[in-house]
Amino acid sequence: MTKTYDAIIIGAGVIGACTAFEMAKKGWKTLSIDKLPEAGYGSTSGSCAIIRTYYSAFETCALAFEGWHYWKDWEGYIGAGVADDLIKYHDTGCLVIKTPHNNDLKNVCAVMDRIGCPYNDVAVADIPSHLQGADTRMFEPAKRPEDDDFGLPTGDAVNGAVFFPRGGYVSDPKLSARNAQQAAEAAGAAFMFNTEVTEIRQKDGRVQGVTLLDGTQIDARVVVNVAGPHSFVINDMAGVSDGMNIKTRALRHEVAHVPAPTGMNFERDGMVYSDSDIHTYARPDVGNNILIGSEDPACDPREWIDDPDTFNADFSDQWKIMVMRLAQRLPELGIPEQARGVVALYDVSDDWMPIYDRSDLDGFYMAVGTSGNQFKNAPVAGKIMAKIIETCETGHDHDSDPIQFRLSHIGTDISLGAFSRNREINQDSSFSVIG
Ligand SMILES: Cc1cc2nc3c(=O)[nH]c(=O)nc-3n(C[C@H](O)[C@H](O)[C@H](O)COP(=O)(O)OP(=O)(O)OC[C@H]3O[C@@H](n4cnc5c(N)ncnc54)[C@H](O)[C@@H]3O)c2cc1C
Repeated sequence: MTKTYDAIIIGAGVIGACTAFEMAKKGWKTLSIDKLPEAGYGSTSGSCAIIRTYYSAFETCALAFEGWHYWKDWEGYIGAGVADDLIKYHDTGCLVIKTPHNNDLKNVCAVMDRIGCPYNDVAVADIPSHLQGADTRMFEPAKRPEDDDFGLPTGDAVNGAVFFPRGGYVSDPKLSARNAQQAAEAAGAAFMFNTEVTEIRQKDGRVQGVTLLDGTQIDARVVVNVAGPHSFVINDMAGVSDGMNIKTRALRHEVAHVPAPTGMNFERDGMVYSDSDIHTYARPDVGNNILIGSEDPACDPREWIDDPDTFNADFSDQWKIMVMRLAQRLPELGIPEQARGVVALYDVSDDWMPIYDRSDLDGFYMAVGTSGNQFKNAPVAGKIMAKIIETCETGHDHDSDPIQFRLSHIGTDISLGAFSRNREINQDSSFSVIG
C-alpha cells in the first residue's frame, strides 16, 4: 500500500532538518528522505559554519542578523532536553577588512544601521590587536602564485576594518542538523535515511509524491526540494527548471585547515575574519587551527560540477593558494606539507542568493541555491519555507503578490519576493560566497 504524508522533504541537511522542524511544529505530518546515512552528512558537514551579518543586499543581511539570534540561544530554539548532544556556538564576532572591492564596507554599514545591527570601525593601527601579527599592507588585486608579483604589497596599508560583534561559528555543523532532526522528531516528523528519491510523481498539474530507488512510492500533497548541491537534479526531475529565471549549479570548493602561527592562540583569541584584500576568509577551529576559505577572486577558475555524485575529492592547488594568500596577512603562518581540510560542493544560484520559493508545479517547493552562505540562516529558512508553503497551499498567489515575512527578533519585515526563483539577478550581489 502506498504510504501517505502531508509533506515530503528531500534532504536532511541543516536547512532540510530545520524545515521539517518548522513544518512539524505547525502540525504537518512530514517525512524527510535522505540518501545519505545521517542528518547533515551532505554539504552541511563540510560547512565552515560561520555566522555573520554582512552580505551585499538588505534582505540577506536582515535574514542573517535574525539568524544570529537562533545560534545565540540554540537550546531555546531546539528545546531543552530534546537533543542528545547540543552544538556549541562560539560568539567571537567578525573582523572584516575595508577594501575598494567592498566599497570600504559603506553599503554594508548603511544596511546594518537600517536593521539595528551593531558594528565598530577599526583603524589600521588597531587591526593587529584583533589579528595578532597582521601585516596591514595592501595586496589587492588577488593574484595566482605563478604571477611574479604574488605576495608583493601594492599599497602601504589597507583602508581599515570593521568589527561586527554579532557573529561567530559552530565547530560541528553536522551536529546542528542532527539537533534539528531530533527537535523535528520530537514535534512529530519522520526521517528515512539511505533512501534515494528517483522520481517526482505528478498528476493533473500537481505534485503527487515521490518514487524511491527501490520502486517504493510515497504520496504527499507537498514535496520540498532541500537537496543542497543536488538541487538542480531534483528540479529537473520535477520538470520545473525551465520555468525558473534563477538557476542553480554545483561548484567545487576546498577549505584549508592549518595550525595557527606559533605564539598565536587563535582558538582562544581569534574571531571570524573576512579579508577581500587577499580574497580569503578564516575562522578559529579546535586544536588551535585556522580554517581558511576563498572569496572567489576573478583570477581563480571556477570548477562547476555536472554530476554532484562524482567530483574530485582530493585537494588541488586551490588549497595551497588559499594558505599562501592568508600568509600575506599573517607572515608567520606555516604552509604544511600535508593538506588537511574539506573538499565539498556549494549549491550556487546565478546571483549567489538563495531561492526560498514555490515552483511552477503546484505543491512543489524549494529551498535551494544556498551558495556557500546559508548555514547561518537555516532556522529562519525553515520558518520561511513553512510560511510560504502554508500560505500558498491556502491559494495565495505568491508570484504576483509576494508574501511579507516578519523577522521577529529584529522587528523587521521583508518581502520574500527577494528569494523568488523568478527574481531578476540581484546586481547588489558580490557574486561570490559573501552573497
Ligand atoms: C565548503 C563549504 C563551506 C561553507 N561555509 C559556510 C559558512 O561558513 N557559513 C554559512 O552560512 N554557510 C556555509 N556554507 C553553506 C552551507 O553549509 C549550506 O548552505 C547548507 O549546509 C546547506 O544545507 P542544506 O540542508 O540545504 O543542504 P545539504 O546539507 O547539502 O543537504 C542536502 C541533502 O539532500 C540529500 N539528497 C540529495 N539528493 C537526494 C535524493 N535524490 N534523494 C534523497 N536525498 C537526496 C543529500 O544526501 C544531502 O544530505 C558552506 C558550504 C560549503 C560546501
